[in-house]
Amino acid sequence: EAEIIDVIVVGAGISGLYAAYRLKEKAPHLNVLVLEAKDRVGGRTLTVDLKSSHEENVTDRFDLGGQWVTDTQDNVTSLLQELQLETYAQYHTGKSIAELHRRVRQYSLTMPFVSLLSFLESIYNVFRLENLASNIPTWNPMNARNSNYLDQRTFADLMKPWIHNSMNPLMVAAVRTVFGCEPEQLNALFGLTYAQAGGGFLRLTLTDPGCAQEKKIKGGSQQISEKLMEKIGNDKVLLQTPVQKIVQNDDGIVEITTIGDQTKFQCRKVILAIPPSQIVPIQFEPMLPGYKREMLKHMPIGSYIKFIFIFDKAFWRDDGLSGEVVSDGSFAPLGLSIGPMTYLIDGTTSYGTPALLGFIGGRCAAVWTSVTREERRKGLLECLSRYFGGQKVSAHLIEYAEKDWNLEPYSGGCPCHNATTGSMKDFVDGLRKPYKNIHFAGTETAAQWMGYMDGAVDAGRRAASEVLVALRPEDQPQDDTIDQYTFENQNRKYQHYRIPRSTFYYAIPIIIVSLTALSKVFFPRYFS
Ligand code: FAD
Repeated sequence: EAEIIDVIVVGAGISGLYAAYRLKEKAPHLNVLVLEAKDRVGGRTLTVDLKSSHEENVTDRFDLGGQWVTDTQDNVTSLLQELQLETYAQYHTGKSIAELHRRVRQYSLTMPFVSLLSFLESIYNVFRLENLASNIPTWNPMNARNSNYLDQRTFADLMKPWIHNSMNPLMVAAVRTVFGCEPEQLNALFGLTYAQAGGGFLRLTLTDPGCAQEKKIKGGSQQISEKLMEKIGNDKVLLQTPVQKIVQNDDGIVEITTIGDQTKFQCRKVILAIPPSQIVPIQFEPMLPGYKREMLKHMPIGSYIKFIFIFDKAFWRDDGLSGEVVSDGSFAPLGLSIGPMTYLIDGTTSYGTPALLGFIGGRCAAVWTSVTREERRKGLLECLSRYFGGQKVSAHLIEYAEKDWNLEPYSGGCPCHNATTGSMKDFVDGLRKPYKNIHFAGTETAAQWMGYMDGAVDAGRRAASEVLVALRPEDQPQDDTIDQYTFENQNRKYQHYRIPRSTFYYAIPIIIVSLTALSKVFFPRYFS
């Protein structure tokens, strides 16, 4: 008769592997097995060797998936320490570049100064969003005072244009970079919850201390999963084992069937640590409850392509540039409807290999996923030439690499999920609540840094705690070190990012002078 395994974790991304590791740590007597569809662990993290010199066979390690961490992400930070993985700072010295409405400008403030009104509009938008987000309880966003109002609106509705006929281009670029979708596609309540889970919008977009792009992991982020797998035991993680069907029998035994050879596993508990959109195609018997089916089918995943250009010299640094570019995609090479550039940043490794890496996100990714790799490379190089000078770019270029996450099986897109308007009512139970013997992990179920590696660890720990409590033998005393997460005790206080004072020092004289000039034009009699 087939062995009955105590816990089967489905999905060997950071969340699933951390759940399995936690179970092994806290209850070594439990038999835990991880089933993973891909031929590798790491899920949405992927570290690869790329050519890093003009000489043959010289390579360096680069991340084509999730990459940055910061100290405000306490779950992943302490895991990195435990796994003895080191971090290094993201380079961000010098001026940044904004490409908005086809114009390329350099800037050194937190935001580019396009025009006075546009600048004020951006500041207003940021303050408004930060303020709205700060009132959202991330553990259950429907408890927010205005949750129904926000649930029925998109992010674009929250940021009604003042001066352009279209959305503020800076905001569009930020939404594409953070969510991989357009502001018109993003549920306002979901977007605010997501931002609040990381401590606010600016936190998600900046490289400052405590912000999402502050540090990178030496040698790459996929090592987190590889090291977790070693700790769990390599034989306890079965690769190329995609789950197709999960049957929960009346006797409490769960039967899992794989795609292809239809291998069957039996267990007492399941932790499903896969992205929401990947739960939908799995057959459940009995079916998942309506609130789960509804929530899951209203959670599309973002469109994202990550690219890396490797150079023999960080020439942009010599020109006083940080390498950061924010673009609204208004410069569209190859005759396409929109450009490929959404965000670019210095990608130099801890070993010193100079690189620029970036994202094609949202609508840009939806268009540029349809052309060939060579066309994408060409289009992106045209953009880089505009920012840094064509001669320098071609003289120093060594290698181009990319990962179109839209095409990645069992991920289906990146970096995170979104929710359609009006679908957030079942958010908490739909994503997080266990159903019989199935528990749910994955970064999308986290209340802290949801959508990030930190959220993946957080969710893995919560799901493992639920299982540990459920499987605790009756005669075993309660273990206080199992930090049991309940729906009630998740009222964390989030410290928001504070805009650097220097921004105001620059902005105040500019605003006073400009308002005076405008007043002179519109109200001349007060100046006569
Ligand atoms: P996943 O990593 O998606 O793992 C789920 C696993 O389940 C996958 O391995 C998948 O193959 C497997 N699976 C799916 N279906 C099945 C099935 N039917 N049967 C068996 N297995 C299945 N986060 C950050 O913190 N910082 C960043 O800088 C950052 N940047 C990002 C950039 C990119 C380009 C991308 C793609 C992501 C980025 N993220 C970043 C997000 C981060 O990578 C994810 O939040 C995190 O890795 C999610 O972990 P997870 O374990 O929840 O899910």
